[in-house]
Amino acid sequence: MNIFIKNKQSKNLIDSETNVTTNNYKELINAINALKKELNAIILAHYYQEPDIQDVADFLGDSLGLARAAANTDADVIVFAGVHFMAETAKILNPNKTVLLPDLNAGCSLADSCPPDIFSQFKNTYSDHLVISYINCSASIKAMSDIICTSANAVNIINQIPKTQPILFAPDQNLGRYVMSQTGRNLLLWPGSCIVHETFSEKKIFDLKSNFPEAEIIAHPECEPTILKHADYIGSTTSLLKYVEKSNKTNFIVVTETGIIHQMKKSCPEKNFIALPTVTGCACNECPHMRLNTLEKLYLAMKNRSPEITLSMPILTAAKKPIERMLEMSS
Ligand code: SF4
Repeated sequence: MNIFIKNKQSKNLIDSETNVTTNNYKELINAINALKKELNAIILAHYYQEPDIQDVADFLGDSLGLARAAANTDADVIVFAGVHFMAETAKILNPNKTVLLPDLNAGCSLADSCPPDIFSQFKNTYSDHLVISYINCSASIKAMSDIICTSANAVNIINQIPKTQPILFAPDQNLGRYVMSQTGRNLLLWPGSCIVHETFSEKKIFDLKSNFPEAEIIAHPECEPTILKHADYIGSTTSLLKYVEKSNKTNFIVVTETGIIHQMKKSCPEKNFIALPTVTGCACNECPHMRLNTLEKLYLAMKNRSPEITLSMPILTAAKKPIERMLEMSS
């Protein structure tokens, strides 16, 4: 039987084999919820996912929150609505569970900017350095790291390391520079970056500020220093959300992936959130990798139990230690 699944904007024919008949958004949600029960599954979603996915998730969070949720779940199947390295992290923390990613091509430019073979040589050149890696990296890079961090806990974790210990920080150089500014530490930086967070325009900040002089600028530390120097508040995705909830301001210029604005609007409907445009004015402030996942693909992944994340046992074992160290150091 054909199944025409339409979301709120009306989508395409996606499945010709299922015996579920649904032709609207509500029925698709019901089908996902039925599969959730059948599989004893949990849906974990990142704030940068499309709004439809955010609304169907059991847990919504940033990288740290999602890692904690993955570590604590007793579900048999984890459906990870995020990018590949995030689903890998869930698998590393749950090697005996099935971890599904709606689109296996949902990668990450930042993770890709740190190829394991080249990083291995770099690390060996600085063998006296402690390797602290941002969670936005592949399982192979995690396996070569001593501690993992997220944008939420990077400053806290580095402050716990003795000042005499040299540190190699990978893969995001912008987060690394921000951490240096907050800790006074000199870090050896791997030169990686995120295509989304390095695309924001300083000129557009001036333009928006002239239209909304009262607006506060809130930014993610993956942005470049030329952008961060204008920010009234810098923080992880979750802390940006908490900041706007507590603030008595009404207007905010949001300098990170635009997906978070969905939760900001839900949480503070009376406030105004303006996404900072990119240099070219294109939609590059939407992560093209994150947006590969759709509600329809999420449904199909659950129905087919595929695509599934698999990792070799040596990588699973080696990558687990630095993630667990992060969870201990940030508890
Ligand atoms: S927003 Fe940047 S760091 Fe996050 S998944 Fe997309 S490319 Fe990777």
